[in-house]
Amino acid sequence: MPAAHESDPPADVLAIAAHRDDVEQTCGGTLLRAAARGLRTAILDLTKGETGTRGTAAERAGEADEAARILGVGWRQALDLPDGAIANTFENRVAIARVIRQLRPRVVILPYWQARHPDHAIVASLGYDACFVSGLRKVETGAEPHRPFKIVYASLYADVRPSFIVDITPFIEQRLQALMAYRSQYANQTAGTGLFVPEEEIRERTFAEARHYGLLAGARYGEPFVQKEVDLVDDLTLLPVQSI
Ligand SMILES: [Zn+2]
Repeated sequence: MPAAHESDPPADVLAIAAHRDDVEQTCGGTLLRAAARGLRTAILDLTKGETGTRGTAAERAGEADEAARILGVGWRQALDLPDGAIANTFENRVAIARVIRQLRPRVVILPYWQARHPDHAIVASLGYDACFVSGLRKVETGAEPHRPFKIVYASLYADVRPSFIVDITPFIEQRLQALMAYRSQYANQTAGTGLFVPEEEIRERTFAEARHYGLLAGARYGEPFVQKEVDLVDDLTLLPVQSI
């Protein structure tokens, strides 16, 4: 497992996902927007993609680095949990908590808890539990405890009403480029064409999804999130989205 180091820069926003390329699909625009605001962003992938139909884990590592560069992400690493069989064990919570304690994010982005892929669903609860464990002083990892202030769930692929949308309009092309950095997965090629959609189809589909979610909040392109908490409002006249 790649260890987080004392020298790792702290992050404002940490996205945790099951597979390399998940973040690019569900919250890449949000990370781009955060970076453009001067926030420090980071990605922790929990698997290395060894069971993928196309490409090797080593190829995907290079592609993930390139995608991180395009997303303006300052830190990205992958744990070595089993692809397709991620489990919410105490050992795995602690492995993630080590990273949380090193990066000390204020916000953690997790996948939504209902998903077609079992890895995605389990990472919602595993990630939440890891954030909790990270705050427990009695769990020793050699670093100070840290509990993120906020956990939000990227819900792009879930059939659920989002709590809020992040406007990614200026970043939609860059987000697509980050996804297309996974050449072994998405570039037009002959191997496994029954399973994989070609590049043009990915462009159309991802833009249509972003358009749909953007429209929900009056933006052109957006990414949806669910938060469990109810927001607290100070001034009704400053609510951000027009009603009629
Ligand atoms: Zn995935």
